[in-house]
Amino acid sequence: MESLKNNKYLINTLKYIRDYKSYLINYKHINKKQNKKYNPLPVQDVIEYNFARFNGPQKYICFAPFNSMFFDIRGKVVVCNQNREYIIGDINEQNLHDIWFGDKRKTISEYIENHDFNLGCQKCADTIISKNLNGLPAISYDSTPVIEKYPVRLEFEISSTCNLACVMCNGFISSTYRKHFEKKEAYPTVYNSSFVEQLTEFIPHLKYTKFAGGEPFLIDLYYDIWNKMIELNPECGIHVQTNGLVLNNKVKNILEKGRFYIGVSLDGASKKTFENIRLYGNFDRVLKNIAYFKDYCERKKTVLNIPFTPTRESMYEVHLFAELANKYNATAFFNVVWEPHAIAIWTLDSTELKELLLFYEKQQIRSKTYTEHKNKLQFEYFKNQVGKWIKDAEKRELSYPDFEKLTNYELIEKLTEKLIKYDNGIVKNWFTGEIQSNPKEYYYNIFNRKLQEKPTVTRKLLIKMNTYDIERVHIDVNNYFHLH
Ligand code: SF4
Repeated sequence: MESLKNNKYLINTLKYIRDYKSYLINYKHINKKQNKKYNPLPVQDVIEYNFARFNGPQKYICFAPFNSMFFDIRGKVVVCNQNREYIIGDINEQNLHDIWFGDKRKTISEYIENHDFNLGCQKCADTIISKNLNGLPAISYDSTPVIEKYPVRLEFEISSTCNLACVMCNGFISSTYRKHFEKKEAYPTVYNSSFVEQLTEFIPHLKYTKFAGGEPFLIDLYYDIWNKMIELNPECGIHVQTNGLVLNNKVKNILEKGRFYIGVSLDGASKKTFENIRLYGNFDRVLKNIAYFKDYCERKKTVLNIPFTPTRESMYEVHLFAELANKYNATAFFNVVWEPHAIAIWTLDSTELKELLLFYEKQQIRSKTYTEHKNKLQFEYFKNQVGKWIKDAEKRELSYPDFEKLTNYELIEKLTEKLIKYDNGIVKNWFTGEIQSNPKEYYYNIFNRKLQEKPTVTRKLLIKMNTYDIERVHIDVNNYFHLH
């Protein structure tokens, strides 16, 4: 037994030496290129990240640009759901074949090959530096570390049909949010049967698919895609990210036909928090349905996971997320919320963040089984993330006195200048693509309106926002408008 253990240790050590050597060779090559064109992450961060990866160091820091496509609600195609900035194609104008084999995807692949995250991958760069590796989008692509002619992974977010209106959502991705908060009709979907037909070329090559919404079990076109997948590539995993509240006969029938992996998003570990965040949600019903999904996944030998999205509302029950997932033998996953700023944790002051971390340090999480251990690790990684946010907040706060000398008008002016520069002077509506004819006035009006409504809070916010990475301000101002 002991010698078996030693052998395993030796094999692992040799594997790591081999991987490390190959990694260094790879990095040498990258550095040469970098001098000319690329701006890579610091070597040390990349090395640490590579050694923390489940499969050890890999040739690519992220596989997404090499093997994946994500379809967003507007018809835009990107390589992953975290990078909505760099668009490789548009299904309203191009066919799928041309998008996948086009130049835009090649360009982002070259950036990632050179460890350069500047084509919209800032969230991953930040997460690697903060060492919250389990919350890192790039690492999820390590489960399909393959490079073939066709993508092996497709992810869909093609309709806003949804039965909930969660506070961190917006009218672009929830029809109920749009109706409840914006008092408007849902945006129509741009996807149709021709899109499903174009998928025929891709489906046989797939190893992984993920369906989100809206609420996937309410989106009719998904049933057409699932039926096609079950017919053409029954081995391919179908992962559905549901809010867990739709479980009728139509859902049960398609589940029985295929092999589905279920993820149930939960934003709170208590009824009160859950229902505060998820308008029209029902905590008791979701737990009952999770029990159904647990039995289904065990029977079909798939996996149930429960992604949690810690926000300011739920931040003092994050330790309970792991316990709740343990109860259903499910894998917990903690998403990091960057926007909207008003509910994100990273935007808190350093004193509030320190208090939060102190609270986390006092929590005991059970870790007897493999799943429990993994779920506890999620909590530990989240603590690392909060630690990094404390340092970031302290750094930002050092520059507050300089901004405090400025008038409200000067603060708006500074922010607006940066936003316009970020957009190369062309400010567009994120969803419709409509160009703002007078971007300066457009931003000025947004900030000024908020100043009129809540002068003190908004002045503090303007100071804070002037210290944020401009990509973050841009996303918040243009996608959410949650400037409270
Ligand atoms: S590095 Fe992150 S944001 Fe960029 S493609 Fe990979 S997963 Fe997406």
